[in-house]
Amino acid sequence: MIAGVIVDVPAFGTDKTFDYRIPEHLEETIEVGMRVVVPFGPRKLTGFVIGLKETSDLKRLKKIEDIVDPSPVLNQELIGLGKWIANSTLCFLHSAYQSMLPAAMKMNYSKRIYSINEAIELPDLPEQIRIQLDSDKGLDWAEAQKSGKHIVRSIQSAIHNGNLEVKYEIRSKGKKKRHKVVMVNIPTMELNAIYDDISRKAPKQAEVIRYFIGNNETKIPTQKLMDETESSRATIKSLIDKQILLETEEEIYRDPYKDRQFERTVSLTLTEEQKESIKPILSDIENNQHETFLIHGVTGSGKTEIYLQSIEAVIQKGKEAIMLVPEISLTPQMVHRFKGRFGSEVAVLHSGLSVGEKYDEWRKIQRKEAKVVVGARSAIFAPFQNIGIIIIDEEHESSYKQEENPRYHARDIAIERGRFHQCPVVLGSATPTLESYARAKKGVYTLCTLHERVNQKALPTAEVVDMREELRSGNRSLFSTALFDRLKDRVDKGEQSVLLLNRRGYSTFVNCRDCGYVAQCPHCDISLTYHKRSNQLKCHYCGFEDKQPTECPECTSEHIRFFGTGTQKVEEELNKLMPEASVIRMDVDTTSRKGMHEKLLNAFAEQKADILLGTQMIAKGLDFPNVTLVGVLAADSMLHLPDFRSAERTFQLLTQVGGRAGRHILSGEVVIQTYTPEHYSIQLAQQHDFLTFYDKEMLMRKLHQYPPFYFLTLVTISHEELMYVVDVCEKITEVLKEGLSEQAVILGPVASPIPRVKDRYRYQCVIKYKNEPTLKNILNEILAHYQKRMQQDQLTINIDMHPQTIL
Ligand code: ADP
Ligand code: ZN
Ligand code: ZN
Repeated sequence: MIAGVIVDVPAFGTDKTFDYRIPEHLEETIEVGMRVVVPFGPRKLTGFVIGLKETSDLKRLKKIEDIVDPSPVLNQELIGLGKWIANSTLCFLHSAYQSMLPAAMKMNYSKRIYSINEAIELPDLPEQIRIQLDSDKGLDWAEAQKSGKHIVRSIQSAIHNGNLEVKYEIRSKGKKKRHKVVMVNIPTMELNAIYDDISRKAPKQAEVIRYFIGNNETKIPTQKLMDETESSRATIKSLIDKQILLETEEEIYRDPYKDRQFERTVSLTLTEEQKESIKPILSDIENNQHETFLIHGVTGSGKTEIYLQSIEAVIQKGKEAIMLVPEISLTPQMVHRFKGRFGSEVAVLHSGLSVGEKYDEWRKIQRKEAKVVVGARSAIFAPFQNIGIIIIDEEHESSYKQEENPRYHARDIAIERGRFHQCPVVLGSATPTLESYARAKKGVYTLCTLHERVNQKALPTAEVVDMREELRSGNRSLFSTALFDRLKDRVDKGEQSVLLLNRRGYSTFVNCRDCGYVAQCPHCDISLTYHKRSNQLKCHYCGFEDKQPTECPECTSEHIRFFGTGTQKVEEELNKLMPEASVIRMDVDTTSRKGMHEKLLNAFAEQKADILLGTQMIAKGLDFPNVTLVGVLAADSMLHLPDFRSAERTFQLLTQVGGRAGRHILSGEVVIQTYTPEHYSIQLAQQHDFLTFYDKEMLMRKLHQYPPFYFLTLVTISHEELMYVVDVCEKITEVLKEGLSEQAVILGPVASPIPRVKDRYRYQCVIKYKNEPTLKNILNEILAHYQKRMQQDQLTINIDMHPQTIL
């Protein structure tokens, strides 16, 4: 037998499969989707088996040396999906597959095998092996492979049948905990009858039964059940003896949410608008039909409830659901809504989890213990086999695009998987991207609009304050009179406020007042950022650090200090102007430690502070009933970036943040401070007018030949030597000009907006086009042409087929 293997070498194109002979002792072992170790030149590399066949065109084949995984890590669908990703983003097939796996599997962790249930007999295995499988340490896979092919085969088939399982363990953290759990051993419908039956004779046992009636969990750690129902071990044991409950041992997952209680929620009665929107989605679920929906609904219009009820329909059909939310919206509040509705069937994947925790969640999915995954971008690769719906909330968020290879957009992957599984894909947003809205208008997506908030609450009124006027009238503070007065009013009334500092493109740089010198990173062409806490200057691109200078290195003036407005500076000013107000500050600095993000939000939710001050990370998903004022400092700081999406991003941010206020009984106000109050993105955000914004911005995009009217491709070249970079970029630009049609616009070569990072120069070339069927081939040829130099000469060529920004 021959295996086709995608080896971890830089080779472009999807057809770079290398054939290897399967040695006899592995013949029955190797399956498609497994990783294997193969000889490659003088090296040994890992690779993915993506096909098995009888013959090869090549005569002399090398042999596969070993298998990495005892069972496949990719299924057929994901193998096909990887090819699609490699083809559409021009990445290596190996890195496409790699990106689908949790980080724990990418490293060289030890693999151990455990029995899932000690009660299951495995007569094919010698006793010594069985004892190890049942032990806390499990059986080491590397050891097991030495014990002969029959045993290996038996272990594999037990894994296949779900009687054994494989874990990847970081050696130092390899300890697994087990505990006793009890579960209901009868159909849950019968619980009520049993309760009635024993409530007189055995009130304590009845109490335990009532617990299961009142909760959606059917399985619970024994100790927890005893605590919750204040019952004794004997009470539980009687129920086990009656075979109403069943007790087994189970591994304790590293579940980051394990200590939380999730109050059970039920479906709400939908409003007419919600009903209209969910109808076609439910119909697709029912008929196994693929279609992409765009739900455009203001914040608070009940989109999430639509997601929840669609997922419920999917679960009832015995299928699975993927729910993507942006990393920063993946708040405990969000997780609660899903765990509250679907209990332990929800797996959560986000970057706040440790490598081990992420792997545990992934495994829950693979073992079919989870039916729903809620996660950030990479959760789109959840190894479900039977997907019934894929939902992307806040579909306009730029974090759905991966900014390193493979440069995929989760939306594209969702649609590709939705097509494969013949299931609906639902995109939702209060401010959809122009691309998605244009597609919906053309009928490529089905548009569902929710015009009203569920509780009929009006959207908060927004006031735009012209900061130039403030300056003219002598107010030099960061706060306009309007915002300051309102903040003060809220503090006096005991209501809360949120202050957003839009910091993208707004750095806190150090500047000499006399000569204009700006402190720059010696390795990157970008100004250094001032950090007050350590009194240091830092480069956000390469990590370079320097002391804050006491005099100007150019002219020795002492008038050198930091400018710009950071969150720290705003906090200081607040403390000075309004000492009675307590402030919680959230930015990269205060949230870098694990768990801090959540801690600060909880403190604010518990009303331990009057004001929540932060960057973009506070703009989304938060829902605090006591917040009645939202202030935006410097709303236009993004507008001046030379980025074709800057108006769209400004509109989105202002709309999102406005949605934070007055969601409940108290009504809300928004104050937007800006130096360009006349800009349409600010005016229309104030009026909550997406449709007019869409029309206006589409005109701009058409005029300047940007998406969605044109496609963009960005080619970036970098190397330590400037002339080399310029030279390669010129050649590439020439090849593109020759190969593409007259309609394609090729801009470049030009220096990248940040022309040097980590001592490497960067040049770029942008292609704008409508229809260039040969583009990918040309780019692939370019990559192939430079492949050797990229391997040996430190040359980098990055191609982004659909860049979010060309900054
Ligand atoms: P969105 O996701 O569009 O911001 P949500 O789904 O979060 O909106 O709904 C906003 C609020 O309204 C939530 O508190 C939610 O529980 C509530 N809600 C949603 N749908 C209904 C409904 N049909 N009946 C009553 N309350 C609802
Ligand atoms: Zn100076
Ligand atoms: Zn730097």
